[in-house]
Amino acid sequence: MKQRVALFGGTFDPIHVGHTTVAEHALCSLEAQTLVYIPTRRSPHKQVFPVAAGRHRKAMIELAVAGKEDFEVSDCELRRRDPSYTLDTIRQFDRKYNSKAELFWLVGADVVRDLDRWYRVEELMDRCTICVMFRAGYPRPDFSGLLAGLGTERVEQLARAVIETPLVDISSSEIRARLAQGQDVSGLVSPQVWEYIRKNNLYMLENGPVRGGF
Ligand code: ATP
Repeated sequence: MKQRVALFGGTFDPIHVGHTTVAEHALCSLEAQTLVYIPTRRSPHKQVFPVAAGRHRKAMIELAVAGKEDFEVSDCELRRRDPSYTLDTIRQFDRKYNSKAELFWLVGADVVRDLDRWYRVEELMDRCTICVMFRAGYPRPDFSGLLAGLGTERVEQLARAVIETPLVDISSSEIRARLAQGQDVSGLVSPQVWEYIRKNNLYMLENGPVRGGF
């Protein structure tokens, strides 16, 4: 059987318990050997730049997965100039594994409505399996709105790959908002990530660090 590798891209600004819970569930459910977190320099799907620098976001992911053998972090997107597309990342991982691994791209249910606008999404779907995971606060993934853009076959492909992850009602924006008001976020991020945030004074100042740097 081919090696199975799950790739989990996102801003991770910061990584939280929602991310790690669904990632662990997805790894098991896909019977993948490895899950790679891929912090993005700047998401083509978001209007704003990340708040924390890439090196901080990467360091927090490393802390969140420390000691977990099946989990890795890649800075391939942080190193790339804008715009950075998922397809480029998939091609890069395909080369890394000499086309011998089966690649899965994980996303939360909040991205469903935009999927048909992703850069060359059909080619992307030929090269990897896009797995939509459940997300608290969003409906069960329903791809019918994508029928006109993607067609029946692609929609069925997406529906077959849905992963029923546990619902964890946490978002990075909520965490940043709490921190900006001086509130505690323990329980929403791992203790090590919480310590890193405090040590580096991330997200706490209104005019915090320059957005989006490395
Ligand atoms: P923000 O609140 O800043 O938009 P976020 O919490 O959505 O951030 P991202 O880093 O943008 O976090 O998310 C990366 C990926 O993880 C996306 O595919 C997103 O859908 C998914 N995701 C984030 N939080 C959850 C969650 N609580 N449950 C399931 N999926 C999630």
